[in-house]
Amino acid sequence: MRILSIVVPCYNEEENVRDFYNEVMKNEPFFKEKELEPEFIYVDDGSKDNTASEVKKLIQDDPRIHLVSFSRNFGKEAGLYAGLEKASGDYVVTMDVDMQDPPALLPEMYKYIEEGYDSVATRRVSRKGEPPIRSFFARKFYKLINRMSKTEIVDGARDYRFMTRQFVDAVLSMKEYNRFTKGIFSWVGYETKWIEFENVERIKGETKWSFWKLFLYAIDGIVAFTTAPLAFASFMGVLFCILAFVLIIVTIVRKALFGDPTSGWPSLVCIISLISGVQLFCLGIIGQYISKTYMEVKQRPIYIIKEEI
Ligand code: UDP
Ligand code: MG
Repeated sequence: MRILSIVVPCYNEEENVRDFYNEVMKNEPFFKEKELEPEFIYVDDGSKDNTASEVKKLIQDDPRIHLVSFSRNFGKEAGLYAGLEKASGDYVVTMDVDMQDPPALLPEMYKYIEEGYDSVATRRVSRKGEPPIRSFFARKFYKLINRMSKTEIVDGARDYRFMTRQFVDAVLSMKEYNRFTKGIFSWVGYETKWIEFENVERIKGETKWSFWKLFLYAIDGIVAFTTAPLAFASFMGVLFCILAFVLIIVTIVRKALFGDPTSGWPSLVCIISLISGVQLFCLGIIGQYISKTYMEVKQRPIYIIKEEI
């Protein structure tokens, strides 16, 4: 028997905890056939509803279920990390509890693991059911980050992944505080097989991600996986130095040829405001990196556990 750990981060998901378990256990014949012993690791990310007590009820029926409760909401990335740390399986799958990651794909994913892949990842090929403006910015984000970063971040990639032990250990060896799991999965390398599926809408409850939260998450991703914006800041600096140099020459020559140089007041105002804008923007970019560095240097734990069963 080999253990298959199923890691599920949950935040205010009381309605989904049991349905998720039932849905995954529909694969029981497959688990039996392949001699896989499922182990569930529910990570309760500081839920304010009855998520933890729902999981405890499940544990009474099935001792292969584990619960890790955080002392507060640490975010999905922390939940995933904790789940991977607690997972004892030869194989580990990370999934959302809201059934947007169809458990029916598990047999297909395992097939590729048997073929020798180290991880099987999923991406949704459509974004139906999502607000169009969100899809638009999501697409732009993937275009931008892939142009800047050497680590490939696949558009539509989910955190639904089937991994071998060696892959999981590699992911766990990355102990950074600012976690952008999509990037980490890609960064560790190994052979990954991609499976595509149509977007599934959430059945119960609602999404925990507001537009603003997603925007900040996008910045986290960029700062964590590329330093290109810093290079851009230097580039702008050089560009404006050259521009300034040209303007100095022009001004001197004009003074020498035509005399009175004071007529250029409006253009001066434009130049000063433009350059101060660019300077502040570049300072902001540097600030982003410094703030992330600051958080890393503190070496705070990624999560804190309140209860573990
Ligand atoms: N989640 C979490 N902590 C959070 C936010 C979300 O553990 O702070 C979990 C959530 O319970 C779900 C998964 O992460 O299992 C994905 O969240 P959600 O469905 O809200 O995101 P979406 O699918 O809308 O991107
Ligand atoms: Mg969801």
